[in-house]
Amino acid sequence: MLAIKNLHVKLEEEDKVILKGVDLTVEAGKVHAIMGPNGSGKSTLSYVLSGRDGYEVTEGEASLDGEDLLDMDPEDRAAAGLFLAFQYPVEIPGVGNMTFLRTALNAQRKARGEAEMSAAEFLKFVREKAADLEISPEMLKRSVNVGFSGGEKKRNEILQMAVLAPKMCILDETDSGLDVDAMKLVADGVNALRDAGRGFLVITHYQRLLDHIKPDVVHIMADGRIIKTGGPELALEVEKNGYADLLKEAV
Ligand code: ADP
Ligand code: MG
Ligand code: MG
Repeated sequence: MLAIKNLHVKLEEEDKVILKGVDLTVEAGKVHAIMGPNGSGKSTLSYVLSGRDGYEVTEGEASLDGEDLLDMDPEDRAAAGLFLAFQYPVEIPGVGNMTFLRTALNAQRKARGEAEMSAAEFLKFVREKAADLEISPEMLKRSVNVGFSGGEKKRNEILQMAVLAPKMCILDETDSGLDVDAMKLVADGVNALRDAGRGFLVITHYQRLLDHIKPDVVHIMADGRIIKTGGPELALEVEKNGYADLLKEAV
């Protein structure tokens, strides 16, 4: 589904190479985790896949269901079914959460040549999704993320994912760290959305998140490359021994 081949990326403004040949395939129905020391390029990989400015792909490819992602605008990547969990954490005063979600969904439908959802249809749809996630109707009416607690923002992120129903979800749980409750929320949301037709790439600095989201495959990234791939036991090994042995092995 998501196929990354020999991806090399440098910063646009500087001669700094960050990704040095990443190879990674995420199959439909699977949860892949990427772990790795700080500064190894994990977030850069998700930024590049989402189409963020400032990075230059110098070699390699990335595709979703055979469609070349690197050629597409960020909106088209979303329409193709790619979702990045940190894509919408911004606060948008004056724009109701429900309006925002409907606009995002309809933009996607339009780009796919599908009929837009009416306000009434959407209301029914989003209320069901929100109820599944124990999100109050009041939170749907508030301005996007404005005054939301950390936990509410996470819950809202999962709601965005549930509404947009992407094929491929990338979650970059940045190194700032989630508290245990927020981590549980994210994990429950991901687990509820696990589906034979959907892939996940969960990027995390900590093993703890993977206690709640059981990954099918674990990759270790260091210095811009995937240096090791294994099963869930690889995450436990990292928790026990840190990255030092893996880094030594890789040299
Ligand atoms: P990780 O998410 O694994 O901690 P990052 O992708 O955030 O790693 O960063 C990888 C490396 O690239 C780090 O050395 C970081 O400082 C550098 N880097 C990433 N983006 C930028 C940028 N926009 N400007 C300068 N350095 C950057
Ligand atoms: Mg970092
Ligand atoms: Mg990061």
